[in-house]
Amino acid sequence: MNELRKDYLLNRWVIIAKNRRMRPTDFLHESVEEKSGVCYFCPGNEDMTPPELDRISEGEKWIIRCFPNKFPATTLECGEVKTGPETDLFTKISAYGKHEVITETPRHGEYFHELSVEHLVSVFDLYSSRIKEMRKDERIKYVTVFKNQGKEAGASIDHSHTQLIALSIVPPLVNAEAKASNRYLKEKGSCPFCDIWRCEKKSGRLIFEDEYTISFTPFASRFPFEVWIMPKRHVRSLSELKYEEKQSFADMLKRILSRLYTGLNNPPYNFWFHQSPDDCNLHFHLELAPRLAKFAGLELGSEIVINTVSPEFAARHYQEG
Ligand SMILES: [Zn+2]
Ligand SMILES: [Zn+2]
Ligand SMILES: [Zn+2]
Repeated sequence: MNELRKDYLLNRWVIIAKNRRMRPTDFLHESVEEKSGVCYFCPGNEDMTPPELDRISEGEKWIIRCFPNKFPATTLECGEVKTGPETDLFTKISAYGKHEVITETPRHGEYFHELSVEHLVSVFDLYSSRIKEMRKDERIKYVTVFKNQGKEAGASIDHSHTQLIALSIVPPLVNAEAKASNRYLKEKGSCPFCDIWRCEKKSGRLIFEDEYTISFTPFASRFPFEVWIMPKRHVRSLSELKYEEKQSFADMLKRILSRLYTGLNNPPYNFWFHQSPDDCNLHFHLELAPRLAKFAGLELGSEIVINTVSPEFAARHYQEG
């Protein structure tokens, strides 16, 4: 059973993963999967992953497939976790939850941005249905959805995939955004994200917009070429999007990732969704972080980030392709 340990004082949590049995030398080498030359995520190797949870098929074959992560960060075990004597300082709970993988394509080497808009809509639909399934468990308070593309962005398997981790806590970053959002709503009477996109529409940071979706480089971008994508309509989750809105969202994400691929020579990146926690009214959005710069001492020690690419420059770069 993994543990979720809280910082002595800050609302900052760490999953201490005990099931990987890493030795110090393991950090020096490529992953085992890579060395053996066999891809666990490819069609034909389905028996090499834990038993399948869901799939979207075309004829006999799957085109999108969901299964549990072989090395889950969170599990359904909820054994008692003993806390230290000074319990206020040493808070830990069991890392309860589920950890799933979705392979978005059967084709090894195909990139996420190469998938058709229709295919991406189906990928979004599978995200939504897995989230719904995981949220049936009342102990699950939030499901994180994120994609790591490229080794430097944390992908240990090349075959394109997304991860979903269900947690018994709302992650601090989402919680902070949602609470600040609620405060703004109370004081100003409007959703801050609805206000943000209306302002960014007229700023030098707009990338693309259509009837349903808008994308821009955020004012205080932490990452070079960071992008936020959001539906214009105020919705709290991916599952609330109508078909046309999903199509538009998929199309915009595809266009931006394609520009990232060609314009910046296939950089590693992460993206994640921010959906509203239950008791809040957070405007659903996606945040995309190209991993072109490394967080160093200042960033890690102070959470103040130096970004050498202004979001205004980055927006022009995306627009010009
Ligand atoms: Zn593969
Ligand atoms: Zn809103
Ligand atoms: Zn966010």
